Amino acid sequence: MKSITKQKINIRISWMQNSKGKTVPEVSMNIDDLFSMPSSSSKKIENFKKRFFKFLDKMKKLSKTQKRKKTSDYWKLSHAIIDFREKHEKEFYIINYTEAIDRICKGNGLSKSQVGLLYQFADFFTKEEIIDEIPFTYYLEFTLKRNQLKEKNLLEQEKTRLLELGKKGKLPITKEYRKQLQDLINSSSLLYCSICKTEIPGTEGMLGPFLCKKCKEDVL
Ligand SMILES: [Zn+2]
Repeated sequence: MKSITKQKINIRISWMQNSKGKTVPEVSMNIDDLFSMPSSSSKKIENFKKRFFKFLDKMKKLSKTQKRKKTSDYWKLSHAIIDFREKHEKEFYIINYTEAIDRICKGNGLSKSQVGLLYQFADFFTKEEIIDEIPFTYYLEFTLKRNQLKEKNLLEQEKTRLLELGKKGKLPITKEYRKQLQDLINSSSLLYCSICKTEIPGTEGMLGPFLCKKCKEDVL
């Protein structure tokens, strides 16, 4: 028999009305996929379903609207979302995972873009780095800027600063923190040498083009 590269099983989460008129999630697959699947897959899918519904229950519990959710509650939500995907991505591809999560989280007081950040949040903070004295919005501001911070090698430094400020009760208002983050990123933008593309120290905030010392000597 021809060996086939192991393919992922495509899963779609749909929402259907049950006999009582209640909308419930259902796991479905493309009919063509169903027919071309080896028979061993059906067991796998059954197991997946079980785990998925268990996951849904967990999400529902975690996202239940409370007066004010703690930052650690958001972290648990985020961790559950990331963890479930990681555990299954080798075998399954959930076509509309984001959409399904949005739907589950609906009504927990998060905007769509905030839910979007939950996919990364727990990737950037370990459980130990979650301090309930720091409101979730500060962690979100940080997560929003994660790529720029990483690019400039400022991620760890800024994380330490944020946690210190929180522990000491010295956090600025959210808007001010956002500005501080932006200023930090802007002020660390070094210019690159037009020839060898290395960063030139001391060029923060300046207008280019610039040549590094070495290239300048070569040109002259
Ligand atoms: Zn150069």
